[in-house]
Amino acid sequence: MRVLITGAAGFLGSHLCDRFLQEGHKVVGMDNFVTGSPDNIAHLIGNSNFEFIQHDVTNFVYVGGELDGVLHFASPASPVDYLEFPIPTLKVGSLGTHKSLGLAKAKNARYLLASTSEVYGDPKVHPQPESYWGHVNPVGPRGVYDEAKRFAEAMTMAYHRFHGIDTRIVRIFNTYGPRMRPADGRVVSNFIVQALRGDPITIYGEGQQTRSFTYVDDLVEGIYRLFFSDRVDPTNIGNPDEFTIQELADLVLEIVASRSGFTHLPLPEDDPRTRQPDITLARSTLDWQPRVALRDGLKKTIPYFATLVEKEGATARTLVSG
Ligand code: NAD
Ligand code: UDP
Repeated sequence: MRVLITGAAGFLGSHLCDRFLQEGHKVVGMDNFVTGSPDNIAHLIGNSNFEFIQHDVTNFVYVGGELDGVLHFASPASPVDYLEFPIPTLKVGSLGTHKSLGLAKAKNARYLLASTSEVYGDPKVHPQPESYWGHVNPVGPRGVYDEAKRFAEAMTMAYHRFHGIDTRIVRIFNTYGPRMRPADGRVVSNFIVQALRGDPITIYGEGQQTRSFTYVDDLVEGIYRLFFSDRVDPTNIGNPDEFTIQELADLVLEIVASRSGFTHLPLPEDDPRTRQPDITLARSTLDWQPRVALRDGLKKTIPYFATLVEKEGATARTLVSG
């Protein structure tokens, strides 16, 4: 197959490029580097099965030659990023989804949308099955991301129903691993970088809110299986093991053997209080389940950040206000 991966220079997009290339496919990567880095794809330059196009996917997308698949991963994903880039986030979820769907239609290619657990908002149903419609504040600060992704899902289903495009929607739950930017601002990267530097761990609120963390290799396996399945309806891919943010902080400190203390910052507006995927459908239809426990995934991830802290003096990035 020859596939286009948008957001290819980002954390997840770059791992997906690797996976498709490892399986013998050809990959066209596209990115405008708004939150990604050329470092994430530097190892692919010179690979004859890999091409890269620097482009903003909110504008008309041109790719020469045949394409069998389009995987739309371009979008700021960290709350710190999408609060810094609210309008580009809305545009890439709406216009970027429209443009990439148009390309899939023109090429008669299969389409996979990277959606998110954020479509469930601050959920009233726990854990969250795909059938739950969510509890989202459209006009709060997170609305720029949540509503863009909800629009993207609606647009994807419209192209499926109206144009007959072969589509997939993956609802990704908090994923971590090497190639996240140290200053990405998400909780796992922040806590690891802070622990390595001996800086205070920044807990927002009381740290009793929960998340369920997926190691990147597990996620990529789930997405790869979904892409090659015939499952059109949205599919949760995530690790159901749920932790409070305080538990995550304690675990990171223990593994790093860090003497960092804690500092409490205001809980961001509309920060979901709980989040855990119901993965019954992924288990039954994709025969997929996560394999990497949080402790093991953190041990695989910490050396990557340690190198960046040692070589470049990398620092974390926090939300300054609630
Ligand atoms: P990331 O910020 O590391 O990567 C996103 C990439 O998209 C970056 O390289 C960025 O430069 C690129 N991009 C953004 N806007 C673009 C545009 N207009 N044109 C071209 N490129 C553009 O984030 P990530 O964690 O790799 O997330 C990738 C996708 O997965 C996103 O769609 C995100 O919403 C989704 N997702 C991720 C998670 C997670 O835990 N990592 C969870 C849910 C959903
Ligand atoms: N969080 C925190 N300290 C940080 C960064 C995040 O306590 O330095 C909390 C945040 O309030 C949220 C959880 O960790 O409850 C996960 O945040 P993240 O930004 O990783 O992603 P989210 O799941 O909110 O999209």
